Amino acid sequence: MNMSHELLSDLIEKRRYLHENPELAFEEFNTTENIKKWLEEHHIPMLPLELETGVVAEVKGAFEGPTIAIRSDIDALPIKEDTDVPFKSKYEGKMHACGHDFHTASILGAAILLNSQKEKLHGTVRFIFQAAEEVAQGAKKFVEKGALEGVSAIFGMHNKPDLPVGTIGVKSGGLMASVDKFEIKFVGVGGHAGIPHNAIDPIVMASQYVTAVQSIVARRMDLFDNAVISITSIHGGNTWNVIPDTVTLEGTVRTFQPKAREAIPGLMKKLAESLAEGNGGSVEFNWEDYLPVVNNDPQFEEIIRATSVESGFDVVDAVPSAGGEDFAFYQTYIPGFFVWMGVDGPQEWHHPKYDLKEDAIKVASEFFANLAVNILKK
Ligand SMILES: [Zn+2]
Ligand SMILES: [Zn+2]
Repeated sequence: MNMSHELLSDLIEKRRYLHENPELAFEEFNTTENIKKWLEEHHIPMLPLELETGVVAEVKGAFEGPTIAIRSDIDALPIKEDTDVPFKSKYEGKMHACGHDFHTASILGAAILLNSQKEKLHGTVRFIFQAAEEVAQGAKKFVEKGALEGVSAIFGMHNKPDLPVGTIGVKSGGLMASVDKFEIKFVGVGGHAGIPHNAIDPIVMASQYVTAVQSIVARRMDLFDNAVISITSIHGGNTWNVIPDTVTLEGTVRTFQPKAREAIPGLMKKLAESLAEGNGGSVEFNWEDYLPVVNNDPQFEEIIRATSVESGFDVVDAVPSAGGEDFAFYQTYIPGFFVWMGVDGPQEWHHPKYDLKEDAIKVASEFFANLAVNILKK
């Protein structure tokens, strides 16, 4: 499918409008209203889901077939924009610094292209314009509200400033890391610094733990799995001659393999308990699941590579990112695949000077429209 110059300039205009009017997670009211208006203009029906922000639309093909979904996120970030673009954010302290304005315009473009060819389509393509990606809450909410009902597979992208326009990064398995948080409180008995045998020192427990915990990655993980355990905060004690009764550690764990993610909290907890017990104290271990791994289903790799080539784009092996993405939640329910879309920008995501080349809208729209046709043909 080929996008006309006219449609491309229209989508560029829409992207610029979104860029100028960024809205933060769960506040995307004006963004939502505009997406709805644009879908209506093209007679693309929307699903009556109870969503405060965000939209789900559908293009039904002329032939029976499965339903697949293509997802875009729509929210901006609390960052003060520092670019010189003429469509710079009108709201100080809010910026589309992750390119979700680009995602929105591109997926809208794919919907418009597919809608114009629906007589050839074998099945249904659902377009998820998802709210609140930046706070890792949107995907979860959209699933609860029924966005995936009847959907057999989901596809999505993130723009990639370090790849040229026309290049698509593809990789099966873990593409973006899981992100989890922990808080560990070592509990001892406070006392006089000169009489430690009458106290139970939580600083000793916490100190042993900070170094010992790294042995989980070195000695308990499979060589072919990767993980990072970072302790980023230690709090305990408030003077020089008193042993405190508690020390609290906080930090994060990142990994790319769901099985590593599953194993780590148990190993960390056991180590904390045994160190606490060995020192005569106890521990409170709190783990918070934040984001799963963006875990691409290998069954789609070949068709994605073939679609990219057939559409005239370059395919490269995607380099994974240690950042998180809430697209991962969808992939815990149904198989999916997430790609990098080259946008040739001057800065990485979330930078105040973040920018992109808008020709990439044409690439992304055409790629996803062609992919939907190919997946449904299969
Ligand atoms: Zn982001
Ligand atoms: Zn993003």
